[in-house]
Amino acid sequence: MTIIRVTCDSGHVIDLKPEEVSIIEGGTKFTFFCAECALGIEKRADPKILGILQSAGVKEGPAKLPEPDQHDVSAPAFTEDDLIDFHFTMDDDLEELLS
Ligand SMILES: [Zn+2]
Repeated sequence: MTIIRVTCDSGHVIDLKPEEVSIIEGGTKFTFFCAECALGIEKRADPKILGILQSAGVKEGPAKLPEPDQHDVSAPAFTEDDLIDFHFTMDDDLEELLS
């Protein structure tokens, strides 16, 4: 199996499989995930690097990144109103069960 050795912006040396690397922005950059930094890293790809990546089997497109540990911060926060709605829903269900 081909292993691509890359260095992230913080100097971590990472061995990646071709499917863990992606060519982006029309072949001018490539991207991968550094587990040490817990960050997606973007690197500039000159034509020589691009050729190496492509011959290793790296495809163009979004990288297959691991599932992030943190919650989706763009999701709406759980508010007191949500809790009240939840209770109403529970009561409705209970009434349905009792009727
Ligand atoms: Zn790193």
